Amino acid sequence: VLFVVDADEEARVAAESTLRRRFGADYRVLTAASAAAGLDALERLAQRGDKVALVAADLRLPGTDGIAFLEWARTLYPGASRALLVAMDRRGTRIPFGELEQLQRATALGRIDFWVVKGWDSPEELLYPHVQEALTAWTRANRPRHEVVRVVGEQWSPRSHDLREALTRNTVPFRFYPVDSDEGRRLLREYGVDAARLPTVILHDGSVLHDPTLVDVAEALGVHTRPSAEVYDLAIVGAGPAGLSAAVYGASEGLRTLVVEPHAIGGQAGTSSLIRNYLGFPRGVSGSELAFRAWEQALLFGTQFVFMQRANRLRARGTEHVITLSDGSDVVTRAVIVAAGVDYRRLGIPSLDRLVGVGVFYGAAGAEAPAMAGEKVYVVGGANSAGQAALHLAKFASRVTLLVRGHSLEQGMSSYLISQVQDTPNVEVRLRTRVVDGRGEDRLAFLTLEEAVTGRREEVPAVAVFVLIGAGPRTEWLRDTVRRDDRGFVLTGVDVPEEEWPLKRPPLPFETSLPGVFAVGDVRYGSVKRVASSVGEGSVAVGSVHQYFAKAAARDAAGN
Ligand SMILES: Cc1cc2nc3c(=O)[nH]c(=O)nc-3n(C[C@H](O)[C@H](O)[C@H](O)COP(=O)(O)OP(=O)(O)OC[C@H]3O[C@@H](n4cnc5c(N)ncnc54)[C@H](O)[C@@H]3O)c2cc1C
Repeated sequence: VLFVVDADEEARVAAESTLRRRFGADYRVLTAASAAAGLDALERLAQRGDKVALVAADLRLPGTDGIAFLEWARTLYPGASRALLVAMDRRGTRIPFGELEQLQRATALGRIDFWVVKGWDSPEELLYPHVQEALTAWTRANRPRHEVVRVVGEQWSPRSHDLREALTRNTVPFRFYPVDSDEGRRLLREYGVDAARLPTVILHDGSVLHDPTLVDVAEALGVHTRPSAEVYDLAIVGAGPAGLSAAVYGASEGLRTLVVEPHAIGGQAGTSSLIRNYLGFPRGVSGSELAFRAWEQALLFGTQFVFMQRANRLRARGTEHVITLSDGSDVVTRAVIVAAGVDYRRLGIPSLDRLVGVGVFYGAAGAEAPAMAGEKVYVVGGANSAGQAALHLAKFASRVTLLVRGHSLEQGMSSYLISQVQDTPNVEVRLRTRVVDGRGEDRLAFLTLEEAVTGRREEVPAVAVFVLIGAGPRTEWLRDTVRRDDRGFVLTGVDVPEEEWPLKRPPLPFETSLPGVFAVGDVRYGSVKRVASSVGEGSVAVGSVHQYFAKAAARDAAGN
């Protein structure tokens, strides 16, 4: 259902007929003339189990406002997209400056998802694109129809989790069918699947992979998992925002470019449900969508990707560099950009580490959220990533408890996120509280929490805990080749100690202590740890790579 509330009859009728004309084949368009009538209708729809994908309300509803209405609607339909309808002002501009303050506030507090100006002449320009974007996002989260892959498995098995996580993070359209569901059983029968060898992956062409590794799945989907024998101009380690950006600029500027990535495109950013501060996306963009677009862009410029492989070793060989991958194969390249980011810090509680993937998740809120429908879940952490995860999970779970070790959210979270967390009725914040233990047979069942002040311990039932307690670089593989600080961040440019630098010329921007090897993004010492800065560094480092080649060529020419 697409649901519109507007007291202005002419505008309401126009919205109804315009939406019906474009979306009527797939959605019912329903309207109400007041907030009270709108809520009644939504309650009836909820009781009948109807799905509502979009609720749109006029900013100026008699007796209340559209923002308050959308807040009420959210309690009934937490996953529906919320649009605010705003009258076009007398200037007729696309941004109603007279209402800007309200729009800024509502957006910052997460009370609306987007807004649309009314009074359009052509809905193609001002209405349909926003509605379509919202419906695409809703469909992906709630009922994907384009299923490239179907996975049948135990809901609570670590292998099922690994597959869900890898497919979600690599934006492969898939659906997970629990083996004990009617549809799961039907698929097992239809494809003659051996129920003893789960999880099973059913591909688009009907072929079946029994208990496959991630490499098997990647190869079956046509993804490269091995480098070619050629010498690359540029090898990039990591396909987060920094690596993807370096790939786009490297390949588009004519360099033979390879990217090596063990997990998924997008890195940490790919796990973010909504990035609101990246330039050019005023309504925000999901990390996986941004990563998918960047990946497609890099591919179209000719970048080669090797997935499911980790860089395990780097060494210089004459004027070339050799990167050894986790399967033992070598990549030979003239220059390297290390964009390996940082990794989630672990809780270090053995009873919980045993349950990773079966109720204990590091990040992974994006992949697991739909399975949390109606459940009570916990998020551990007090920074932005924990806040974002709590808000995303709250769209599905009945209750989300955010466990924060510090005495206030202000210590680690941006103020706009704090407001959203406080404003979301099914998110509870417990300060000065930490997880100290947990248990469960084959999946998480209970967590033990400890209050810092009193030391009081309490065991609570929990089906899932999402841990986002910071991150650190994993750069041990560079230990013998480039200089790092004592926490493992890679030193570059002016931070490379003079005594560690072998050439007469100074290091180029982003160049490490090994000439021709550069480091960008979160892995770099002194980086800002944002998507935009990582993207910026990735592109600038490619400029340094060109300079490195030019200087090397000049040196060779002088030598000759
Ligand atoms: C949940 C969450 C929400 C966030 N939200 C925002 C936001 O709203 N706005 C914002 O600006 N920033 C946000 N950030 C921060 C932002 O995502 C990071 O700053 C950014 O992703 C860093 O990019 P990167 O490419 O340097 O590293 P990463 O994104 O960490 O990517 C590094 C990649 O390298 C790969 N890799 C690691 N080691 C190796 C190896 N040995 N060989 C090959 N590959 C390797 C990893 O698998 C990973 O894919 C968020 C972070 C998180 C976790």
